[in-house]
Amino acid sequence: MAAKLIDGKALAQQVRDRLARESAELFAQKSIKPGLATILVGDDPASHVYVRNKQKACELAGIYVDDHKLPASTTQVELLTLIEQKNADPKIHGILVQLPLPKHIDSKVILEAVSPLKDADGFHPYNFGRLVEGHPVFEACTPKGVIKMIESAGVTIEGKRAVVLGRSNIVGKPLALMLLQKNATVTICHSKTKDLPAVCREADVLLVAIGKAKFVTADMVREGAVVIDVGTNKTPEGKLCGDVDFDAVSQKAGWISPVPGGVGPMTIAMLLENTVESAMRSVGLR
Ligand code: NAP
Repeated sequence: MAAKLIDGKALAQQVRDRLARESAELFAQKSIKPGLATILVGDDPASHVYVRNKQKACELAGIYVDDHKLPASTTQVELLTLIEQKNADPKIHGILVQLPLPKHIDSKVILEAVSPLKDADGFHPYNFGRLVEGHPVFEACTPKGVIKMIESAGVTIEGKRAVVLGRSNIVGKPLALMLLQKNATVTICHSKTKDLPAVCREADVLLVAIGKAKFVTADMVREGAVVIDVGTNKTPEGKLCGDVDFDAVSQKAGWISPVPGGVGPMTIAMLLENTVESAMRSVGLR
């Protein structure tokens, strides 16, 4: 393998260790513990695993978890009532509503009901708007983690040509805005982009979030580029794999992140970081 590995798992561990120290200091100084409310509606097995992993990570970082597992029959009004309670609860500094929600619940209404001051996932339109303005408060966890991964490799984003594959509201768009904020020249690609391989080859930094296994092949990557793979897909054998053909692309890229062990652990670490920062803001420390 020619490329150097950007190890999201190791970086996430460092972040969690730092957050554990900050949480302990916060408790020593102000007698408060950062608190995250986790809200999960329904029986989706993958969602249960995600929430359990986030809760375990919280506990290791000294974050109090307020767990709410609700039946799939929960109404939108019941869910809104719970969110209002958590918005008003001083022990809670972050609220995570695990997606997807059951079809009878409007996710947009629910995410907008979370107080922008407790929006640890960074999905509220207020926080998205702050990012657009260039004055972010809570930043969406996955793109925030991606930026930290690039910077951890010692790569300067300023002045680089960045190409983002995917334009979702939770990954592609906020990631493009964060790169712009860091003074990259940014191109956003999507399913209607013409001659995608040629656009990708222009990238000094290629960020891939489309949800198609091994979609990015070596011929789409410039020699020495930084390649960050956000995708999480299952192979026919049931193994986790990214959107990038890792074996081939790692022979050509300068830096590459793996799946698993790349963006996934950093997404969780950023949820914890947002919660701890929110707790600090609540007592005027940030
Ligand atoms: P999404 O909402 O499904 O968006 C996918 C994007 O990819 C869309 O903008 C779509 O374009 C674009 N796209 C699809 N096929 C394409 C193609 N052939 N050429 C160019 N663009 C194409 O997905 P998402 O929520 O952003 O997630 C993307 C991937 O990241 C998924 O695998 C997801 O599981 C993973 N993910 C991982 C984490 C993590 O923590 N590791 C977090 C979030 C997401 P259009 O807009 O034109 O349809």
